[in-house]
Amino acid sequence: MSMVDWMKEKSGDDSMKYVLAGGLVLVIGLALFSTITEYTGGPEDVEVEPRHFWDVEKQQEYTLTPEEMKERQYGRMDMQMGQMAYSPLTGENTGVPMTKCPNCKNYFVAQGWANPDQGYDPHAPVVCPHCDTDRDEWFRERRRNR
Ligand SMILES: [Zn+2]
Repeated sequence: MSMVDWMKEKSGDDSMKYVLAGGLVLVIGLALFSTITEYTGGPEDVEVEPRHFWDVEKQQEYTLTPEEMKERQYGRMDMQMGQMAYSPLTGENTGVPMTKCPNCKNYFVAQGWANPDQGYDPHAPVVCPHCDTDRDEWFRERRRNR
C-alpha cells in the first residue's frame, strides 16, 4: 500500500479525524497560552507596580514608579535603613514608604515611622489601622498553616 492510499483510507476513518481535531485544539491552546503569559509578564510584574509613599509634610499619599525610584536612587536598602524618599509634592525628601496590608490590601504608614526625623524604628510593630492586622503576625500564621 502506498502512503497516499494509506492517507485516503485513514481520512475516511472517523477516529483519525478526532486525532487531527484534538491535535489542532492542542496547538491553538498552546499558542493562546504563550500569548497570555507574554502579556502578563509573570512574577516580575510585582517590580513594575508603583510604590506608595506618604508625604509627612503635606499629609498626603503619592506613588513612585520603579523607574522614578531608580532615578532618585532610592532602593529597598534605603527603605530598610529608614531613609526618607523624594516626594514630588514638596520636591524634597519628605516621604516615607507605605506598607500594604496583607489582609485588607490597604496602604498605611508603619508605626516605626512615628518620628520620621529620627528615621524608621525597626522594633516598632507593623499593625494595619484599617483592620488591626499585625503584618508580621499575619505572615507567621501563614507560614505555620502551610
Ligand atoms: Zn488591613
